[in-house]
Amino acid sequence: MSDSEFAFPTSERVDRVEPSATLAIGNAAAALEADGVDVVDLSVGEPDFPTPDNVVEAGKAALDAGHTGYTSSNGIPELKEATAEKLRADGIDADPGEVIVTPGAKQALYETVQTLVGSGDEVVLLDPAWVSYEAMVKLAGGDITRVDTAPSFQLEPALDDLAAAVTDDTDVLVVNTPSNPTGAVYTDAAIEGVRDLAVDHDLTVIADEIYGEITYGVEQTSLASLDGLAERTVTINGFSKAYSMTGWRLGYLHADEAFVGAAGKLHSHSVSCATNFVQRAGIEALRNTDDAVAEMVDAFESRRDLVVDTLADAGVDVSVPDGAFYAMLPVDDDDQTWSERAIEEAHVATVPGNAFGAPGYARISYAASEERLREAFDRLFAHDLL
Ligand code: PMP
Ligand code: GLU
Repeated sequence: MSDSEFAFPTSERVDRVEPSATLAIGNAAAALEADGVDVVDLSVGEPDFPTPDNVVEAGKAALDAGHTGYTSSNGIPELKEATAEKLRADGIDADPGEVIVTPGAKQALYETVQTLVGSGDEVVLLDPAWVSYEAMVKLAGGDITRVDTAPSFQLEPALDDLAAAVTDDTDVLVVNTPSNPTGAVYTDAAIEGVRDLAVDHDLTVIADEIYGEITYGVEQTSLASLDGLAERTVTINGFSKAYSMTGWRLGYLHADEAFVGAAGKLHSHSVSCATNFVQRAGIEALRNTDDAVAEMVDAFESRRDLVVDTLADAGVDVSVPDGAFYAMLPVDDDDQTWSERAIEEAHVATVPGNAFGAPGYARISYAASEERLREAFDRLFAHDLL
């Protein structure tokens, strides 16, 4: 690049947001590793298993068969059908025409927020909340109201606070169960509470159920399976977590055809479509991976137990996650400094809770081998960080 004085002017919209904290810390860990440091990276939430073989084979076969062109914008019919089948198995009355297949659930969320939220519209988030919801709402010009679920991280005890926060001016409520970053799986009573509030205040609900397959001894109820929520919920899901397909970039949204028509405009003008051969691998993932998913979930559950037991033995009080692969460690009030010390001194990468609206905590992703998890705790104890 030349050393000209030119600086690109950036929009006020983009200036409003910060880069993704989860990805930024993952990048910092990768940079240390490139310098030869052995970092235990518990930052980015990414399963450490390979994508199941049959899914990889389906992707290769699709490439060999020449599926390399554009597809219809909202996705190939067979994948939309397989997706609708999966949603129906979750109790959602879904048709293929009500689905948009996207490059990752993040894009499905982005399109959903852009479609629903305009300047000054009010969106309620349940804290701690995944980092990108706030950024997406800000990019859309919306205002955020936060309802705190700490320290139990369950929604049921927070329903009164939620009821106090929601008014007839509230437009959208985002519910993420199982939750990133807490691992909480909301009870049916909590979801019924959301339904009653949504109906009373005529809210639209975004239900991010990307961790729905990853639960331990409890079942996750899909919000859109409830009468009253079915017609007002946009369901978000994706392939990254359950099928260990983060780099394939595949996800989807479901809502009624009118919503799909509106969001589909944004979709067609931005990404055009999800990658053709990846969509074909997605059909295999939805239809033929029950055993592989069960194996991964079993492994996550053992790791969850290891994390919870290790912390309990050390007298650290942690709320037990029933789903996803995250745990919130109660740390120093200054969680930013704690996370910086954890990576710089102990070479353990975590995400400071303030990125999720949860100061005083650090999130770990336990999608790492038991050996690496033990190593991480040994280092954190050795440096007096826990
Ligand atoms: N929602 C939540 C809660 C997540 O943790 C993630 C993780 N990246 C996503 C959506 C997006 O997933 P992806 O774009 O990889 O499908
Ligand atoms: N969702 C994962 C996380 O929270 C991946 C990174 C991201 O997309 O934010 O770590």
